[in-house]
Parts: sequence; C-alpha cells; structure tokens
Amino acid sequence: MSKIKVKTPLVELDGDEMTRIIWKEIKERFIYPYLDITLEYYDLGVEYRDKTEDQVTVDCAHAIIKHGVGVKCATITPNADRVKEFNLKKEWPSPNGTIRSILDGTVFRKPITISNIPPAVKAWKKPIIIGRHAYGDLYKDVEMQIPGPGKVELVYTNTEGKEERLLVHDFKGPGVVMGQHNLDKSIESFAKACFNFALSEKVPLWFATKDTISKKYHARFRAIFDAEAKRREEEMKQAGIYYAYYLIDDAVAQIMKNEGGMLWALMNYDGDVQSDMVASGFGSLGLMTSVLVSPDGKYEFEAAHGTVTRHYRQYQKGEITSTNSVASIFAWTGALHKRGELDGNQELMDFAKRLEKATIDTIESGEMTKDLIPLSTAANKKQLDTFQFMEAIQKRLEK
Ligand code: NAP
Ligand code: MG
Repeated sequence: MSKIKVKTPLVELDGDEMTRIIWKEIKERFIYPYLDITLEYYDLGVEYRDKTEDQVTVDCAHAIIKHGVGVKCATITPNADRVKEFNLKKEWPSPNGTIRSILDGTVFRKPITISNIPPAVKAWKKPIIIGRHAYGDLYKDVEMQIPGPGKVELVYTNTEGKEERLLVHDFKGPGVVMGQHNLDKSIESFAKACFNFALSEKVPLWFATKDTISKKYHARFRAIFDAEAKRREEEMKQAGIYYAYYLIDDAVAQIMKNEGGMLWALMNYDGDVQSDMVASGFGSLGLMTSVLVSPDGKYEFEAAHGTVTRHYRQYQKGEITSTNSVASIFAWTGALHKRGELDGNQELMDFAKRLEKATIDTIESGEMTKDLIPLSTAANKKQLDTFQFMEAIQKRLEK
C-alpha cells in the first residue's frame, strides 16, 4: 500500500512520562506506516524545556501559528517536587498556559462516545463539548475582608482623572467584598473561537450567563456573543447550525434532558464547574480530548488528561500498565483530519476517520484498558495492557 502524501508539515509537541511512551508507540504503529508526512518536532519534555529556558514552548506556539495545526502530548507542569526530581533551573510555567496565551486561544473539551460505554446521564447520546472562557472574573479577582462598619465603593478613574463612583455596600458590621473584571477584547476572542469551533464541528452553539441578574457584567458577554452571531449568521445557516442564548440555570436544566451534540460556551467559573460535571458524566479521563482554537482559526489538539505519572512509575519498575491511549490517538486523528480539511486532502481525512473507527470498534468488541472495564456493558470484556490495546487497534486498522 502506498503512503498518503501530506503536503503541509504538522507541528508535533512531544511530552512527558507515560504519555511520552504512548506517543512514540502511536507514531510507530499509526502514523509512519501510513503517512508520508513532515512532522515539525518540538520536544516539550520537561528536561528539554529546562535546557532551552522554555524557549522551545514559545517556538512551538509560533510554529502552530505558521502551519495552522499542532498535536500535543501531555506535559509536566513543574512544582517544587518536580524541580527537585529533574534538577530544574526553576518552576517553568504550564506549557498549555504559554501556548494558549500566544495563540490567544480557547480550550474546548470533547468526550469520545462509545456505544457500550453509556454516559451516567441517560439522555446523553452525543458528545457535549464545553468551551470555557479562560480569562478574568473570579480567577483574576481582588478580595477584601471587611472588619467592621464602613463604606465600600467601586471607583473608576479615567486617564483625565475624572472619577465615577458606585456604592457596593454600606457595611454595618463585618463582611466580605470582591472585585472582578473582564476585557471586551478577551470576550470577543472567546466568542470568535466558539463560532469557529461550532462551524468546524458542525454543531449548534449554546451560550449561557445570568444576564437577568447581572445587567451590565454578564449582559456584556451576551451582547458580544450576539454581535458575533450576527456577523456569522450566513455561515451558520449554510452549515445548518444555530446559535442560542440561555440563562445559565435554564441551560443546566436542559442539558440533563438533552441528547447532547452541542458546543456549550461558558464564562470562566461556570466552565470550570460544568466541564468537570460533563467529563465525569461521560466516563473516563482517558476518553476526553481537548482542542485549543485561536480566534483566527489555528488548532492544537491534545488529550485532556495529564502524563499519568502513577502508571509511569509502574512502567519504570518494569511492571505491566494499562493506560488508555484513546484520547492521545484522537488528538492525532483530530489534527490529521483538520490538516486534511485545510489542505483539501480527502484521503487524509478518510484515514483519520478510519483510525478513529478502528479504535472505537476495538472497545466495542470488548477489548479495552482497565479504566473502561467497570464502565463498559460489553458481554465479553477483555482487559488489555497499554501496548496490547494499541496492537489490537492496529490489527483492525490493517483489515
Ligand atoms: P493525570 O495524569 O491525568 O492522572 C490522574 C489519574 O487519572 C491517573 O493516575 C489515572 O488513575 C487516571 N488517568 C488519567 N489519564 C488516564 C489514562 N489515559 N488512562 C488510564 N487512566 C488515566 O493527572 P495527575 O496525575 O494529576 O498529573 C500528572 C502530571 O500531568 C502532572 O505533572 C501534571 O502537571 C500533568 N498534567 C498535564 C496536563 C496537560 O499536559 N494537558 C493536564 C493535567 C495534568 P489511576 O491511577 O487510578 O489509574
Ligand atoms: Mg474544575
């Protein structure tokens, strides 16, 4: 069989620990034998990040901007223990945070659904994708404990020195107060990325806030989304999808009765909370993918889970591991499919779908890693180790 030619380089970001072991295996089994592809390789393993003073992270983000699509392995975000373990120069920042800020991107989390792994919520049939705004609100707030009686005010001083004041509360006794902010520019980028991703996935877009109560702050988010919806109206109509605004409590109630298949965009705090609810409802961390999308349509695909350190320790001791590689495989198929779309390469898109089908068919036939055993309703379940599982997928792909 001749290999499929891929004309544009794909940006590859290698990572750490158990996912780095899986990564190499994915390339050897599923990429090199089938594709004639240039992988522009960046080693984001923590040792090389340390060696380059994290320059490699900045470089790979710019490579994604240049080529349009990247695929990333999970990476260690160093803390004090990791600094000691790897003898690092310092606690380098999270690579995901660095790449996200260079791309000005939004992260979307998408579960992989499998017919014999029923979600905890009976109504859910299709993936619910969550888009969380990742700037401001509670996460950049300032807070004060109020010891006793006194006035708290909001004061805005413009560049000419003119003041605008608003009473927050006239305290008669002790209490607490908080100041939050957000930026039009950040909300606009978020809205753009959400419309890009809804169009790319061909799914409807829901956005939810509490603008009945927060008539300026939450209402600003809604107005920016509504304006973007107006600009993208024709594109959405052509794709056969819609944009809808809901009150957050209405959206939460509806999501529990809905079959899914939408992109649900949320403010920072709501996204933090609801993404964990949705992820646990769909089953395993090993079945959750994550896509970073920039407002101008650059994409980075990865698994939502970390480097699975606990399994790596077993691997280092020569013990058998049963790490689920599905989300990492889908990071590759997502990136290859997007590369195919951008290059007009149907053969490559078909290959990505075939690899996804081989992966899902393997699990549906009863062969799976340990994390899925308690979740699957398959009659003849067989637990495979990390490598046997990938071998089983490869056998199906060969057929
Ligand atoms: P983790 O790697 O996601 O693993 C936590 C636990 O979840 C594992 O011990 C395992 O449970 C289960 N799990 C996760 N992925 C799995 C998979 N593919 N197959 C089977 N089980 C899986 O989180 P962590 O242990 O908190 O973090 C480890 C490192 O990853 C840290 O250094 C952190 O900085 C980094 N991290 C990176 C990213 C990223 O690059 N996007 C995200 C999160 C964390 P059992 O042990 O019970 O089997
Ligand atoms: Mg959370």
